[in-house]
Amino acid sequence: MDYITKPFQLEEVLARIENHLTIWKLQQQLQAQNERLQQEIRDRAKAEEKFTKVFRSSPNPIAIATILEARFIDINPSFLKMSGYCLEEVIGNTVAELNLGKEAVAIAQTIQLLSDTGPLYNQEFELSTKSGEVKTILLSIELIDLSGVQCALLIANDITERKRLENEFISLVSHELRTPLTSTMGALDLLGAGQLGTLTEQGQKVLSIATTNTERLIRLINDILDLERMKSVKIFMQKVKCNAADLLIMATETMQAMADKLQVKLIVHPLAIELWADPDRLLQTLTNLISNAIKFSEPGDTVWVSATLAEHKGVELRENDRASTQSTLLPGFLLITIRDEGRGIPKDKLQIIFERFQQVDASDSRNKGGTGLGLAICRNIVQQHNGKIWVESILGEGSTFYVLLPLAAF
Ligand code: ADP
Repeated sequence: MDYITKPFQLEEVLARIENHLTIWKLQQQLQAQNERLQQEIRDRAKAEEKFTKVFRSSPNPIAIATILEARFIDINPSFLKMSGYCLEEVIGNTVAELNLGKEAVAIAQTIQLLSDTGPLYNQEFELSTKSGEVKTILLSIELIDLSGVQCALLIANDITERKRLENEFISLVSHELRTPLTSTMGALDLLGAGQLGTLTEQGQKVLSIATTNTERLIRLINDILDLERMKSVKIFMQKVKCNAADLLIMATETMQAMADKLQVKLIVHPLAIELWADPDRLLQTLTNLISNAIKFSEPGDTVWVSATLAEHKGVELRENDRASTQSTLLPGFLLITIRDEGRGIPKDKLQIIFERFQQVDASDSRNKGGTGLGLAICRNIVQQHNGKIWVESILGEGSTFYVLLPLAAF
């Protein structure tokens, strides 16, 4: 590597050796680092190849869209097959531009709100194909980072056929059950009114059990039919200008009796702001959430119902849909929160309780009188207002349900 001439100078020899040792050490480090980087590149290439293979051959329709504009940047063959479009027709277009049907705006909004509201699991949407056929899909949307760009990974599950059979079965069974149950209820009312003779104390008790259970069954069937009607768009939202404060106050007043009975304190902080909504349906959502909050609280606990304004810059309205009298600034959102100090909800159930018949505990419907359909109905209503509903919870400490609604008319 080097040489030195005689006569040797001790300091020079030592300095040279030292230099060479340093160079050697650095070379070793560089080599190791190089190997590490090479390995990383190989690992990444392998992972990328694996992802590409999964993406291309997945039987589930998958798409990647930008968060900012909900613009498609990649889609897999299953997506093309389901939608009927070809690659060139999809890539570069936004979700709204592709004419995916009446729920396209809701999907686009969900994508744009993703970084605020977190991922979405198995939410039901209807999607129009290129030929106009309507498909029912379960859509999951996850936030991903692609070379520094925030994107949404959309994974769909086509449940059109399953849904058709399920709907047929549910409406058949529900209608068949409703008539005999209504007549049973009438008979029980007659018995209770004493028109067929006086009942003994034991008889009254049995009658009361029969009435409670019949009422629960009727509630269940009404909920199922309600949900089915909403799904099949037989019920249109009757959107009018309404005041958020009125709705919040009305909802809490409706639930006051239940709160008093279960010794739960109900506190409301209303916000006087106007929004476009179906007041009856929003009231149904709020009373459902407040009723749950009371139901899963202990005596002495408090339930807070409040509303605040929330801005979201990422959500843009289509030009024509802007409320004409409003300024051209992006409109805000109304964020309604229903907070309780009750038993809380386990982390793995936070998403699925919004699906039909999903309860944290199988005994909830028996002990608390619910049907497991309330939150599915709420989600449906909120979705039809182009809003979003979600929950945060700490087990044993309480839950907070959030309802985010756009203030302007969509
Ligand atoms: P249900 O009619 O059973 O109340 P929902 O769809 O309204 O049906 O709620 C589904 C389930 O979510 C409930 O059975 C319960 O397990 C859970 N849940 C809902 N709200 C709360 C809450 N505030 N605190 C704890 N658990 C809740």
